[in-house]
Amino acid sequence: MKFTVVGAGAMGLRYGVLLQEAGNEVDFVDAWQPHVDKMKAQGGVYVNRDHQGRHLVPVHVYYPEEYQKQDQDVLIFFMKQMQLADMLKRCQHFFNDKQYVLTCMNGMGHVDQLLNYFKPEKVVAGTALVATILDGPGEVDFVGKPGAGSMNLANYTEQPDEMTHKLVAQLKKANFNPNLTTNFMGTLLAKVVFNSVVNTLCTLFEITMGEYADYQGADSLSRQLVDEAYDVAERMGVTMLNTREEEMASINYVSTVANPLHYPSMYQDMTKNRPTEVDYINGYLVKMGQKYHYEAKTHAFLTHLVHLAEHTRQQS
Ligand code: NAD
Repeated sequence: MKFTVVGAGAMGLRYGVLLQEAGNEVDFVDAWQPHVDKMKAQGGVYVNRDHQGRHLVPVHVYYPEEYQKQDQDVLIFFMKQMQLADMLKRCQHFFNDKQYVLTCMNGMGHVDQLLNYFKPEKVVAGTALVATILDGPGEVDFVGKPGAGSMNLANYTEQPDEMTHKLVAQLKKANFNPNLTTNFMGTLLAKVVFNSVVNTLCTLFEITMGEYADYQGADSLSRQLVDEAYDVAERMGVTMLNTREEEMASINYVSTVANPLHYPSMYQDMTKNRPTEVDYINGYLVKMGQKYHYEAKTHAFLTHLVHLAEHTRQQS
């Protein structure tokens, strides 16, 4: 299959490089100049696995304005939520109504933006349960062993077609362990809920997921946030993939067993003085709560705290 990854950051590179290694044709489109220039100059991207085995993987990388191909089967969007609107505008000259789009960005907001450019039956979205770090321009670390992590995905229409199954087959071949569901919002919201607890609290306290789970009051903190998020989801009419108890168990498992040493990606943005995606995670739950006359007070409070931390760092 032919893929174009739009947003060749940590996750875009992981998906693109592994799909390329699985035998697909992959191009990358990105706008961060030091990164694009470095990849062009060195003829690819240096890939590490858990800080080891650094090697150069040749990639075809383009700025949005110089990319002209229109015969791609799937466009994969991987960037921070607040970067998407500008990127869509800059890339629209190579969009057409045959292309499918896949995205596994965190938070919510991206799907509505994609629907401004693509038909609902072409949109596939999901969640990526794997950690990747962009160490700097032209350098990426695929955290975990080959085959680590998994992903959930669903068609916006909740009706998988032939192309969806072809896409899932390639994701499987590339070792992403995909799980295709027919519950679009439930699939996406599951990760929003997880991130609204672990990413946000680990970022605020600059701790790993394991350090969070180690705190004896962690369950109580998680429970309050999970309950509020589920109260919102109920009012939205979303059937969640997990019960509240299963969500609590999943938070515990990921924090203590799967990724105890990991700092979430929101922490990485905060410590690099980049804006975080909190408005699309906790802030999204607050906004949806307001729409359905429910106050997600704790999520609102945490959203403010993250913005306070961002503001404080910018002043220092
Ligand atoms: P990223 O920050 O690595 O890259 C996103 C975009 O930002 C790319 O276009 C990249 O070139 C650009 N960029 C990176 N550093 C920059 C800098 N210092 N200045 C300007 N531009 C810069 O983002 P990501 O980690 O690939 O995340 C993409 C999406 O996937 C997000 O929604 C994220 O929450 C989600 N996600 C990330 C992970 C992870 O472990 N990284 C896991 C699951 C989901």
